[in-house]
Amino acid sequence: MKRFLESESANTKKQKTQANRKYDDSYLQFGFVVKCGSENSTPLPQCVICQETLSNQSMKPSLLKRHQLSKHPETENKPIEFFQRKLTAFRKESKCMSSFTNFNEKFFSFCALLN
Ligand SMILES: [Zn+2]
Repeated sequence: MKRFLESESANTKKQKTQANRKYDDSYLQFGFVVKCGSENSTPLPQCVICQETLSNQSMKPSLLKRHQLSKHPETENKPIEFFQRKLTAFRKESKCMSSFTNFNEKFFSFCALLN
């Protein structure tokens, strides 16, 4: 049974890397978005503060938060609107329109509901 599972995963993935981690909208609270263009292959987390790109294996809250706390401790506990603004400026700069347009709309309609 184990052998079967192994050969199956070997077929679907040629490399012995772990499965790709997926970006979650909540990672924006740590200042991270998906690097433009990477979301359809291997999603990479990119910091909207310093624009550093981390590896896919860093795509988890503990590692993203570690980057935030070590590099940008002043942004800890900032409201998500802070990162949203950073993201908007960042996207404008990089001229990258991605699925985050939808996220913006969702986010702002959510805010409208709160008001
Ligand atoms: Zn950073």
